[in-house]
Amino acid sequence: MPQNNIIVQKYGGTSVKSSERIKNVAERIKTYTEKGFSVVVVVSAMGKTTDILIDLAKEISENPSKREMDMLLSTGEQVSIALLAIALHEIGIDAISYTGSQIKMVTDGNFSNAKIARISTEKILKSLSENKVVIIAGFQGIDEDDNITTLGRGGSDTSAVALAAVLNTRDCEIYTDVDGVYTADPRLVSSTKKLKEISYDEMLELARLGAGVLHSRSVEFAKKYNIKLHVRSSYSFEEGTIVMPVEEMMEKFTICGITSKEDEAKVTIRDIPDKPGIAAKLFGELGAQKIYVNMIVQSTGLDNKASISFTVKKDDLSKTIRICNELNKDFGGSGVDSKDNIAIVSAVGVGMISSYGVAGRMFEVLSEQNINIEMISTSEIGISCVIDALYAELAVKILHNSFVEENK
Ligand code: ADP
Ligand code: ASP
Ligand code: MG
Repeated sequence: MPQNNIIVQKYGGTSVKSSERIKNVAERIKTYTEKGFSVVVVVSAMGKTTDILIDLAKEISENPSKREMDMLLSTGEQVSIALLAIALHEIGIDAISYTGSQIKMVTDGNFSNAKIARISTEKILKSLSENKVVIIAGFQGIDEDDNITTLGRGGSDTSAVALAAVLNTRDCEIYTDVDGVYTADPRLVSSTKKLKEISYDEMLELARLGAGVLHSRSVEFAKKYNIKLHVRSSYSFEEGTIVMPVEEMMEKFTICGITSKEDEAKVTIRDIPDKPGIAAKLFGELGAQKIYVNMIVQSTGLDNKASISFTVKKDDLSKTIRICNELNKDFGGSGVDSKDNIAIVSAVGVGMISSYGVAGRMFEVLSEQNINIEMISTSEIGISCVIDALYAELAVKILHNSFVEENK
């Protein structure tokens, strides 16, 4: 039991998708109160509620206001916190639900992708001292002007870890529909293996590169505040995966996981002058327009000309093309191309730091299936390749086979 006796638990959408599941979560929480824990629970919206709300708004407008979208989406979590409180009352457990604004989860004003600035613990601690289970709406906050904000899709994980940090507890359980973090998305690869433990850096890289099991900012918080995340299933009592400091890990693999993501598009601006200041102008302008750029590759051609390719979120593609077309004219380039049916497939592992040939092997495995690599980027513990989205699933399977299964 942690010293201050507080445990933070987060239940994802599938764990609260029906009244039956909510009752089941309430029973699980009860087992913790009976052990003497003070329980703080963060919940997501029921099942696919967030998707349904987004579709509803899109039926009305192609380009709805971001402020109103956050207002809309935050309602999903408000439903599940109240239902869970009611379910706990029903089995004799005192509980109280709070929205993000009620506990003053203050964020910046960046609607749909807000960052947490501070959280007041006053109400939470008072309710805990009254022996109540405290249930908090995930994914939502409030900005300095009292607007409701959301933290980005999957953001309830981040709400939970941020609460664990301010409540000074080392333990945070993330309940989901899989029983831990696997070496690849179990929905794509049937032979994937559950990891007993994984380091913060590997988990961060996996999450950033497409492993949707954890919101990447939740892992950043966990690392910063040294919180052990236990990713586990709300459908069983089995141990899941512990996300922890690398020094405390018993077992380290060269590659701990293979991911793929398809939420980015590639843009190329062709035959622009190969001289100082051009890239600065291009990426400076994109940054000023709040466009997040991920991979960047520059290739030099003849006559002091260069082409620059980079990836941006698909949502930002049309805005990016507009900006690039303008700059292309200024630079005297030969045009702007884009491709949105791309996938970024990646291999991740801390062991890569001390191993040779991982990149070469990855390229070889892809080439054996005739999969063309359009862009490459590397970090200390990850290698990513942009390929045609058509081959994403095949690429994940063959890379998993080569790096994880053959390496048992
Ligand atoms: P929740 O609603 O509980 O937050 P999510 O759908 O956000 O659940 O995350 C769980 C899903 O993440 C799983 O159903 C699984 O398909 C997917 N996933 C992707 N990559 C991985 C991975 N490497 N390990 C485990 N699950 C993964
Ligand atoms: N309900 C939000 C979403 O679907 C937040 C979350 O589930 O973590 O993205
Ligand atoms: Mg999630």
